[in-house]
Amino acid sequence: MQQAHMQPQNEPQAETKKKCLTDLTLPKLTDYIKSIGQPAFRAKQIFKWIHQKQATDFSAMTDQPKALLAQFAQNCTLAVPTIRRRQQSKDGTVKYLLQLADGNCIETVLMRYHYGNTVCVSTQVGCAMGCRFCASTQAGRVRDLTSGEIAAEIYTAQKDTGERVSHIVLMGIGEPLHNFDNVMDFLDIISCPEGVNIGMRNISLSTCGLVPGIDKLAERKLQLTLSVSLHAPDNVTRSSMMPVNDAFPLEKLIPACRRYQKTTGRRISFEYSMVNGVNDSPQMAKKLADLIRGMGAHVNLIPINPVDGSPYSATDEANVRRFQKMLEDLGVNATIRRRLGTDISAACGQLRREDAKQAEQATRQTPSERTNAQ
Ligand code: SAH
Repeated sequence: MQQAHMQPQNEPQAETKKKCLTDLTLPKLTDYIKSIGQPAFRAKQIFKWIHQKQATDFSAMTDQPKALLAQFAQNCTLAVPTIRRRQQSKDGTVKYLLQLADGNCIETVLMRYHYGNTVCVSTQVGCAMGCRFCASTQAGRVRDLTSGEIAAEIYTAQKDTGERVSHIVLMGIGEPLHNFDNVMDFLDIISCPEGVNIGMRNISLSTCGLVPGIDKLAERKLQLTLSVSLHAPDNVTRSSMMPVNDAFPLEKLIPACRRYQKTTGRRISFEYSMVNGVNDSPQMAKKLADLIRGMGAHVNLIPINPVDGSPYSATDEANVRRFQKMLEDLGVNATIRRRLGTDISAACGQLRREDAKQAEQATRQTPSERTNAQ
């Protein structure tokens, strides 16, 4: 099984037909276990092996009948990514480029805070949203991640560092609400007491503002924190940065945020990446305050992290502080997000882009050029 996870891209895969047990919530795993004629109690045991003890091979499940394990080895698989690259920052942040069973790569970041370790997970391979400042979307969306692949990002970081992960942010590559069902199963799996048992209050989900997704999420009444990537307080500026604003402009997005708060009883947090000369003027601070005042929402300010091919440069720190002060004076709660991992390819999607570019260059080189380069 381990071998199959090392398969290079574009090779036909026998593994894809196998059922990935990491993807199944406890109720779904129970249905599956019953469907193959096994007693339901085994589902809980197997779920614990996968999500609590984080077994990477069926042979580790020593309390299960040998015949059942042989059947799993034949028909089933587990999501076990391999670490293709690992970068560690001076501040302790670790960034992983993880390779999935089909050869696609995603990024996962572990950040260390005083309250515990947070893992930032990817939810898709690439992204379809097209935000002009974001590296993840430059080559579009390749595919959705399965619930098990997202969970396995956490298990891999946990295993690699030997440290417990207490918090999760869905802020890596991809738009979580564009992969709604798998993300919901992922949340179910990781908050399950029989698994890693990470409480919803320790989870933040970030969206670029897909209004139908926000409404669908509200119906679930989960106690997670919803972050909305706002980045601009008027439609002209926001559409210039984020094409998604054409489909769901502010007059649709802000009421959806208000509905979300009313239905769930949870406050929203707005992400605001500051771009020099685009969204960082005092007038913008005033417009932003007018837009969201009274919502009790929180604004997270962060200087944009310039990526290759993007026209944007970051607002300087002093201006970010001025912007924050203005918002506070106008009655809006705002903090400046601590930047972790700035000495490694920090903005999400950068490491994957770099790796893809290197692979492309390697295939363009002749074999002798490649040997010389090594
Ligand atoms: N698709 C989701 C989650 C992934 S992006 C979303 O859009 O919210 C996570 C956050 O990082 C978002 O707020 C996004 O706008 C922001 N972001 C992406 N690239 C960035 C960059 N280069 N500099 C600063 N913030 C960036």
